[in-house]
Formats: sequence, C-alpha cells, structure tokens
Amino acid sequence: MSDAARLNHLDQEFVWHPFTQQQGWREEEPLQIERGEGVHLFDVDGNRYIDGTSSLWCNVHGHRHPDLDRAAREQFDKVAHSTMLGLSHPGATELAARLIEIAPDGLRRVFYSDSGSTAAEIALKMAFQYHQQRGDTARTRFIRMREAYHGDTLGSVSVGGIDLFHATYRPLLFDTLAAEPGDADQMESLLSAHEGEVAAVIMEPLVQGAGGMIVHPDGYLRAVRELCDRHGVLLICDEVATGFGRTGTMFAVEREGVSPDFLCLAKGITAGYLPLAATLTTEAVYEGFLGAPADAKTFFHGHTYTGNPIACAVALANLDVFERERTIERLQPKIELLDRRLAEIAELPGVTEIRSRGVMVGIDLGAHDPELRVGHLVTLEARKRGALVRPLGDVVVLMPPLAISESELEELLDITVESITAALASVPAPERA
Ligand SMILES: *Cc1c(COP(=O)(O)O)cnc(C)c1O
Repeated sequence: MSDAARLNHLDQEFVWHPFTQQQGWREEEPLQIERGEGVHLFDVDGNRYIDGTSSLWCNVHGHRHPDLDRAAREQFDKVAHSTMLGLSHPGATELAARLIEIAPDGLRRVFYSDSGSTAAEIALKMAFQYHQQRGDTARTRFIRMREAYHGDTLGSVSVGGIDLFHATYRPLLFDTLAAEPGDADQMESLLSAHEGEVAAVIMEPLVQGAGGMIVHPDGYLRAVRELCDRHGVLLICDEVATGFGRTGTMFAVEREGVSPDFLCLAKGITAGYLPLAATLTTEAVYEGFLGAPADAKTFFHGHTYTGNPIACAVALANLDVFERERTIERLQPKIELLDRRLAEIAELPGVTEIRSRGVMVGIDLGAHDPELRVGHLVTLEARKRGALVRPLGDVVVLMPPLAISESELEELLDITVESITAALASVPAPERA
C-alpha cells in the first residue's frame, strides 16, 4: 500500500474534518499535504499546488520563510510554552508594544488568546463587562451584520449571521440586532430604536469574508464609527481575516481613518504559522476594569495557550518581514494585476459577480442547485491543474499569500478560469429567476 493510500485509509477511519460533510469526504480521495515552500504546498506523492487561499486565509509571506522558521527554532531552544496567567515573557511583551505601534491611534492594550473566535468572544465579553462596571447596566445588546462571521464558539456564533452555519444553535445563543451591511441609515434607526440598550456594534470592516466576500460601500465604516460615538456604543472591528495586509493596507480600518474600540486579530498575525490571537482595546476600556481584587472587576478570561512564546516569536518576525520586504508596498502592483484579470473573468459565462478588495476575492457563480456542489467541483478541477482553492458555497474564493509573485498570480488566475469553465461545463445552467 502506498503511503498516500495508507494515510487516506487512516484519515477515513479516524478523522472528523471541520466544516466538512464527512459522507461526501469519504467518497473522495483526501489530499495529504506534507510540506510547503513559498506559495506552494506539496502532497505526499510530491505533487505541487499553489496555495490559492493561503491555507485558510492565514499565510502571508509564503511557507518556510527562513526568518520565520528561524524565529520559531530559536524560541524553541529557549522555552516552548509558559503561561500568561500571573507571568509574562519577552515575546508577548515586545509584540504588544509592536502591535500598538502599528495599530490605529487610540488602541493601547493587547489581550492575547489563540484563535479568531476567542479574539471576537473576548471583545464581546469586555464590551459587556465594561458597560456593566461603569453602571450602564441596560447596555446588554449587540448589533451584528447580516451574513457576519466571527468564529465558531457560542458567543461568536451569537453575533454570526450565516444561517447555514448558525441557525441550528439559535436556542443556545443570545439574541442580537441585525444590521444591513452598507446601510448607514438602517444602522442609525437600530441605534435610535434601542437607545441606551446597545453595548457594541461588531463588524468585519470593509469585507465580510465568510459571508461570501461581501464588500461594504466606501464610507460605511466611517459612518458606523460616527453613529457609535453619537450613541455611546463601542465599536468592535474583527480584522481576523482583513488584517495584516489582506485588503491592501496593514489593517482595513486604516482606509477610512477609523479607530475602533476593539480590534480583533488572528489568522495573519503569525504569518500563518501558529495559532495566536490578540484583542486590542483602548485605555478607557482597560481602566474600566481597574479596582481592588475584592471589587471583582477583573476580566476573568484566559486560555491555556494564550500568548504562546513560539507564536509570539514568529509574530514578531512576521512584523520584521513586513518592514524589511516592504510587503504592503510591493503588494500594490499585484492588486492592480489582479483587478485587471478579474475584470476579464467577470465576463466569463456563468460568473454572475466578482467581489474583491485587495487580495480578498470572491467569484460568484450564482445560484446553482446546492446538490451539484459547483464550488466544490471548481476545487477538484483546480487541484488537477495544480492549485488549492476552497469555495464558500458557489463563491470561488481566492486569497493568495501576499508574497505571491506576479507570474504565480497569473498562473493561479489561469488555473481558476480553466477550472470554472470545466466545472460549469459539467453541470446544467442554473434556472433563471
Ligand atoms: C476566520 C475568522 C474568525 C475565526 O477565526 P478562528 O481562528 O477560525 O477561530 C473570526 N472572524 C473572522 C472575520 C474570520 O474570518
């Protein structure tokens, strides 16, 4: 039995994959990824693939970047893990200062955790507790966007808006108010109708990723910030997906000169190497938690691997690479190339809409019968041609590492076009409404 066959057998016997209908999974040959190099991943048979979605929106400078590898190894020679509960360590300390340096003005404090879900969950709990502790006890509600995604733990699912993922759990969730993405007037009405009741608005600024790359109109984020200020409501910006250059600036909020009360970071924070997250907040929020131990104003929250030293070491090296390689600056011509090519792809038969910002791209193939799994067919076609992509339903997602070269980007786009064409050729056209 070949190594791939043996591993696939074990996988199908013992593994349960995330966001995966296992019934379909077991009818296909899973791909076993063994190693990576730059923007490429290699399977156990040695086949090479472009990492078209940055290993789930995380990878920034490519795989096996020598500086990042070295940072991890050097920290490994010191200590692999020590706790942030009651102790600190140089990596977490230095990283906090560096994050505050690059974050929008007004953010002054860094609270670590280990995933995007926890980064969002922490912001929700802090916002709630902050209002409670200052005596604004009626502010118990949250406004979230339709089609929002903030992670999979129950708090972050409560502020989620993707029915397919979230509806089952409704009886377990706290009730929220739904905002229409892009509609500032509707946000104003919500805030007015619930004056004094809202603790915070939570949103993915500029682009709602998992909702299908929903791009907000210019000025919406700015308008939400102003409305929050006017109504005494905190603003949580979840930049787990958009952060670290994905939209063309280090953070998406920079585009509209907005400084949120909470900035949630994960995915790209370690350049896609290790699990780490941070919830940044203001000095005002931080001070709202100060008091004698007996006051019980402490933020009672902390995950075991919070601020892991190896992850922090890599996150510091990630910021160094951003500076040294001028990653954001060098991204701009790639975004232009991408936009040019996407304008052509928009004309392809079967493509109903393209939504993109920076290097976050959703190519919408319209409303097909879900049984046909058109997005998944594109994934299988792309795999045959040497690229790994993962769709959101029938929206083909492209989110390459920022370090991708222009020629690699062209190759990824060529493969995407061929794969969409091949997938659509194998299914009936969708019924027109
Ligand atoms: C991926 C994502 C999360 C969840 O992050 P995990 O690390 O998977 O828990 C939260 N918010 C946004 C915007 C995301 O894209």
